[in-house]
Amino acid sequence: MFSIKRTSRVVAGAGLGLAALLALTACNSGSPTDPGATEGGEAGGSEALWEVAEGVELDSPTFERATEAGKIVIGVKADQPGLGYEDAVSGERTGFDVDIARWIAASLGFSEDDDTIEWKTVPSANREQEIINGGVDFYVGTYSMTDARDEQIDFAGPYFITGQGLLVRADDDTINGPDDLADKVTCSVTGSTPLQRIRDEYNGEVTERQTYSECVEQLLAGQVDAITTDEAILAGYVAQDPDNLKLTGEIFSEERYGVGIADGDSALQEHINTLFTDGGDVWTALFEQHLAPAGVEAEQPAVD
Ligand code: GLU
Repeated sequence: MFSIKRTSRVVAGAGLGLAALLALTACNSGSPTDPGATEGGEAGGSEALWEVAEGVELDSPTFERATEAGKIVIGVKADQPGLGYEDAVSGERTGFDVDIARWIAASLGFSEDDDTIEWKTVPSANREQEIINGGVDFYVGTYSMTDARDEQIDFAGPYFITGQGLLVRADDDTINGPDDLADKVTCSVTGSTPLQRIRDEYNGEVTERQTYSECVEQLLAGQVDAITTDEAILAGYVAQDPDNLKLTGEIFSEERYGVGIADGDSALQEHINTLFTDGGDVWTALFEQHLAPAGVEAEQPAVD
């Protein structure tokens, strides 16, 4: 039988770590901040984590297209604090996934400093199609590597492993796992693996939205009883609003995050996998900066 490898786990009751508290104290925009937002590869201070490569040569159709266009188009999420977030006021993109994307782009010679990165917010349901159509050059956004998706696109990675969990209102003690959802309403996102799993394997009413932040609004308004998706995503919402939200129960799947790329672009796939394999220090710095403060525990996984 399938068993869950607890490669990543949110520490129960960790609440806000010191770094997150400091970051929130320092935050004056009132938005759900990402502790220690990075820009231009700088993380946790003035030390740059990576350099923008020059004179890159790669026999990759995606890289050639981006080089010709003079910019690389990267698909991300925009409403997942700690992972892929866009500040509504400043427009700044932050999060573990966003920085993973910046790191990959820099390894190919593209950076925001040179204005050669174009961000594109793409919801879960549209990811494969955007990659297939060439609407994005690559995608980094809590994107589980599954066989069904692999038939349409390719993945580099995994670069992170988490598992499906549950988010409920802080004062709700009636839900302690997916078996308690039979008489509840649960929200998840169209085109996501957690939506599929909760429908296929558990009882209860399920409502679907385009984004997890819409689910959070519904949960806080009392219109749904729970949200299900990857625990690393849910932990970001708890860190943002610990008075009203909490994680409950154990994770009940394994979600291996990969970078979505065009089917057959093995040169780009190898390039990204080598970056991950050789870049353990960068990975650790990004993890400590973006996910550890929300109580997430993980180690860098080996690439496939
Ligand atoms: N990792 C899951 C998936 O790829 C859920 C998160 C998401 O929707 O991005 O479907």
